[in-house]
Amino acid sequence: MARIDDLPPLREVIATHGLNAKKSLGQNFLLDLNLTAKIARQAGDLSGCDVLEVGPGPGGLTRGLLAEGARKVLAIEKDDRCLPALAEIAAAYPGQLEVINGDALTTPVLDHLTPPIRVAANLPYNVGTELLVRWLTPPEWPPFWNSLTLMFQREVAERIVAQPGSKAYGRLAILAQWRADARIVMSLPPEAFQPAPKVHSAVVHLTALSEPRFPADAKVLSRIVAAAFGQRRKMLRASLKGQAPDMEDRLLAAGIPPTARAEEIDLERFCALARLMT
Ligand code: SAM
Repeated sequence: MARIDDLPPLREVIATHGLNAKKSLGQNFLLDLNLTAKIARQAGDLSGCDVLEVGPGPGGLTRGLLAEGARKVLAIEKDDRCLPALAEIAAAYPGQLEVINGDALTTPVLDHLTPPIRVAANLPYNVGTELLVRWLTPPEWPPFWNSLTLMFQREVAERIVAQPGSKAYGRLAILAQWRADARIVMSLPPEAFQPAPKVHSAVVHLTALSEPRFPADAKVLSRIVAAAFGQRRKMLRASLKGQAPDMEDRLLAAGIPPTARAEEIDLERFCALARLMT
């Protein structure tokens, strides 16, 4: 395979800088630069875009994003051991890589980015889900990002793209699909990472819609969906009982049989119900 840049191979970078993976930071590194370039391509056309990368580690995906033509990459990394390796990448792409040593959950980034903005990350599972939920629930829509290309453990990726009637369908699917198109674009076996995690992984690509797929108030929709899936084995007339005294009538008005369970109800009908609860 052709080399994507003139920087050293990632194994060498890790050895030179002593980047033995830390479990506490969820470090499972991607070492194949052709694979990281392939992931970067899933993020869409990067030319003319700023890319926010969270958790660059030794920089495999960072190098992929830059090789694929990102105008600028802003990388937020918590582990300061990675900074020298990232500085070498910044030197190879002058003016195109800015690194912030910080926690992505608390570091403000918008002052460092110019639209259009895409987000790409291979993050620890818990941080990734937390950031995904934040990125999907900004105070105003459309959000600061045009697309999110994120690695998750396969089971979480399936929850994001799940359709009604499946076990994986729930709050995350509704949250993601209400205001974005969400697709699994790659699957990766444990051996793609160093060290290999216990589970398979998948890359999800989400594209922000200019407006929600169906009208609804975000807070009301979130409340209804949380109550419905919080007791997902119950019929909706029971799980949503506390939401309004005439709940059964409202369910019927939204086209939802009161005896149905949350996982049978599609996004359009949840939005119709949210409108009737506002
Ligand atoms: N992107 C690299 C790759 O693909 O090889 C590293 C991926 S590794 C799964 C996750 C990275 O996120 C690690 O470098 C870790 O130090 C970093 N990280 C973990 N928690 C973080 C946080 N809260 N904010 C920023 N970076 C974090």
